[in-house]
Amino acid sequence: MFDSYSGYRLFTRLAVFLLLCLLIGLLVGNPLWILIIGLLGLVIWHYRQLARLNFWLWRDRKLTPPQGSGSWEGVFNGIYRLQGKNRRRVGQLAALLGRFRQGAEALPDAAVVLDSEHNILWCNKLAQLMLGFVWPQDNGQRIDNLIRHPDFSAYIKAGKYKEPLELTSPVSERRLLEIRIMAYGDRQLLLIARDITRIRQLEGMRKEFVANVSHELKTPLTVLQGYLEMMQSMAEPDSMNAKPLALMQQQTQRMQSMVEQLLVLSRIEDAADIDLENTVNMSQLMDVLKEEAKALAKDKYELSFHCEPGLDSHGNELQLRSACSNLISNAIRYTEPGGKISVQWRSVATGGLFSVADTGEGIAPQHISRLTERFYRVDSARSRQTGGSGLGLAIVKHALSHHHSELNISSELGKGSTFSFVIPQHLIERKK
Ligand code: ADP
Repeated sequence: MFDSYSGYRLFTRLAVFLLLCLLIGLLVGNPLWILIIGLLGLVIWHYRQLARLNFWLWRDRKLTPPQGSGSWEGVFNGIYRLQGKNRRRVGQLAALLGRFRQGAEALPDAAVVLDSEHNILWCNKLAQLMLGFVWPQDNGQRIDNLIRHPDFSAYIKAGKYKEPLELTSPVSERRLLEIRIMAYGDRQLLLIARDITRIRQLEGMRKEFVANVSHELKTPLTVLQGYLEMMQSMAEPDSMNAKPLALMQQQTQRMQSMVEQLLVLSRIEDAADIDLENTVNMSQLMDVLKEEAKALAKDKYELSFHCEPGLDSHGNELQLRSACSNLISNAIRYTEPGGKISVQWRSVATGGLFSVADTGEGIAPQHISRLTERFYRVDSARSRQTGGSGLGLAIVKHALSHHHSELNISSELGKGSTFSFVIPQHLIERKK
């Protein structure tokens, strides 16, 4: 394709110029001299254009390049076009950045962008309010110099950002923040801080309320139970009152066990900071669980217990016992007499595995993820019959979370279920 700035066009121009010089030289009778003078003129003209370009690039304040002529016209016009393109691109990028910043400012949380060395690159207004940053003075500062808290320094140093960190706000002692850090882009980090004071307050109120109500219900229920037992012992076995009295006693017993479970749950919830240095003798614990299971099973089930000797766990004995015995009692309660229940405590690659497998009724897959919710029951009537409160697995979940573990459930309807958890390696102790 031919265009005005093509090499072919430039070359033709040069050829025409040289030919003209030669022609004039022949007419004058001195072609060599005229050719030399022509070439010299051409060089001077080119240098002049170069000087103009240089002047514009380095000295001139004008944004647009000077008007070029001849073969230089293409160069000047090219620069002008490139400039326009760059200006448009910069404009687009600035608009994009503006939109991004507006979006980040509209976030309901504090947002801070950090580089790989944890220096602050940018923060939104909420970060200035919640974390006390001063912008732009704090630009480029290390974030752990501004948030001076040992927990925060340790968190950022460890570089494990899977779990969020809870921290009192550097601005106010009464405000609690949840800090999350996410890696993105070219080794950059995005820190998001949320004010969770209200959530924690409400959670505390709920826990306190449940614990207080359960505690207050204990005495009236014991009194009711006592009087019911007395009335039952006084009533004639075939009198009209015998059946209602038996029912009333059964229901008060249920309420009592529910209150007990609620108290256990709130106690476990409150005791999040357990002493993980404490060693729990797991073979002793398994012996106790075996005795309990035998008493519950009343010889109607095939029980098998396997415990790896010398394999102990660190943590809270009461909480671990509560978790294990809830799983065993569930296995017995949700398995028809004659079924098989096998309990194991053994080492696996990731730590110590506790599992309870039964040949019971099993659980449909859609229920499994919700089983650890408080009061969630697959079949309330069945659960009521078996004396369930719907709190057992919630207790298990909380107790396990304090031991850095979680409950795994695998089940097949009509075939049976396996409830298990792994105490991680760092909490396991092996005796020689
Ligand atoms: P509950 O006191 O009602 O047993 P849990 O929290 O211990 O409450 O258990 C929640 C629900 O999970 C139970 O109602 C029951 O439907 C189901 N479940 C728990 N363990 C088993 C099991 N081993 N086999 C079948 N279903 C089970």
